[in-house]
Amino acid sequence: MFTVADQPTRQVGSHTVYFCCAACAGYFDEHQAEVAQARGWKAQAL
Ligand SMILES: [Zn+2]
Repeated sequence: MFTVADQPTRQVGSHTVYFCCAACAGYFDEHQAEVAQARGWKAQAL
């Protein structure tokens, strides 16, 4: 079982990004390119 079942995550390339709540994950979904760029991540690597 996962210990953080309520914690949304997103996968960005090799990075797993954890969010405190669905709202933050939703924000990330809508601003993924900006967030990824700000953190120096590749926007996508699928
Ligand atoms: Zn949050």
